[in-house]
Amino acid sequence: MADVCKTKPVVAVVQMTSTPDKEETFAQLSALVNRAKSRGAAMTFVPECADYVSESREQAVALAEPFDGPTVSRYQELAKTLNMWLSIGGYHEKPKTADEMQRIYNTHLLIDDEGTIQGVYRKVHMFDVDIPGSVPSCESSYTIPGSSIGPAVATVCGKVGMAICYDMRFPEMAVSLTQQGAEILTYPSAFTVPTGMAHWETLLRNRAIENQCYVIAAAQIGRHHAKRSSYGNAMVVDPWGTVIARCHNTIDICLAEIDLPLLHKRRSEMPVFSHKRHDLYGHVLNNTVLRVDSQLEYQFGPHTVKSSSAFYRTGLSVAFVNRKPVVPGHVLICPVRVVEHLNDLTAAETSDLFLAVQSVAEAVKKHYQVSSLTIAVQDGPDAGQTVKHVHVHVLPRKPGDFPDNDDVYKHLEHHDKNVAAREWRNDDAMAAEAAVMRNYFNVL
Ligand code: AMP
Repeated sequence: MADVCKTKPVVAVVQMTSTPDKEETFAQLSALVNRAKSRGAAMTFVPECADYVSESREQAVALAEPFDGPTVSRYQELAKTLNMWLSIGGYHEKPKTADEMQRIYNTHLLIDDEGTIQGVYRKVHMFDVDIPGSVPSCESSYTIPGSSIGPAVATVCGKVGMAICYDMRFPEMAVSLTQQGAEILTYPSAFTVPTGMAHWETLLRNRAIENQCYVIAAAQIGRHHAKRSSYGNAMVVDPWGTVIARCHNTIDICLAEIDLPLLHKRRSEMPVFSHKRHDLYGHVLNNTVLRVDSQLEYQFGPHTVKSSSAFYRTGLSVAFVNRKPVVPGHVLICPVRVVEHLNDLTAAETSDLFLAVQSVAEAVKKHYQVSSLTIAVQDGPDAGQTVKHVHVHVLPRKPGDFPDNDDVYKHLEHHDKNVAAREWRNDDAMAAEAAVMRNYFNVL
């Protein structure tokens, strides 16, 4: 991963016409990416349907390839040979296990300059519409909707929030990606002509202005086959909403400089994200479950918790096993940010923490086959909080596990106080329990 975060990297945006012919489509893509390289691009953004545009639902499914198939390998090879990052804005991914309708995924890939896949996003909003002047579309009849968005991926030109085409109509998703660190929002597309004429540029500029992000939208253009055409107008919008690069009405690329210092200057001059009134209109939550090993350790007050002891993680909260459980299955959840009191949390952190508690509680109930839990929030030393970091205890409860139900609180008070004895579990035992609990969460 050479050159991550150069000051003003040049990006190239592709406008192409994919057809049902995969070979012909790859030849076109490859020529355009080579052209981008010769013009100095550090990263090239290729549109949705980078592999083909099919003539029917059946053909879309039949031509799809798995993640480790030859088409993705070709993209990786191209990135490596040209020593260039690639955003492949959508290819037809055949899933490992087919669903009952034999559907596929619409998958956006970020590939680094060594050919390694750094980001995968499966389109979440399905284009099921019937617009006058266009052939009706029912994407969900052949596409499985993805189930997660973000986090932003660090690339040579900044942190990229991954989306695809129709996703641009959902401002909540753009906000979520920005909250998860995006500096660049990407909308690789195969936009229909009527909707493109009415909405394309307005939507892209809105997403850029509201989120103070660059927006990069690679696009399909022209006639793919007798039944389908695309609008084109591949473009780059800067965080001020200005279109700084645009392809003409033909197969081509356009180039733009990404100026991240300028982006951050704009954000500090007009800090709209910290001016939001979540108390009045709620919050866009980042509910996506992340990989716990995306960092080596987590802070728990003054302690460090190895990621091997953690089993659930969102952008803002983390759950981990207890080094001295009061009962088997006694786990802890805390915000990733170290704060002592519940009231120190932002609205987003508060909601995220309690949603995390719900998810963890469900998993603990299933695993320990209990119907009841003690859930206790530790907020301040006078309430028995010994670790100065607001946290939630979750303990599975069984009939008769203590002589009196509320004895559990006495045990919580005393169970870990004999610090000298250091009767803590070792890392291996904690990692083994965390590994079992991870199975309850669907982390890609
Ligand atoms: P409290 O005394 O209510 O603040 O609870 C602190 C809890 O954190 C106790 O249940 C401890 O066993 C647990 N604990 C403290 N340090 C760690 C650690 N490094 N890893 C896992 N659990 C911990």
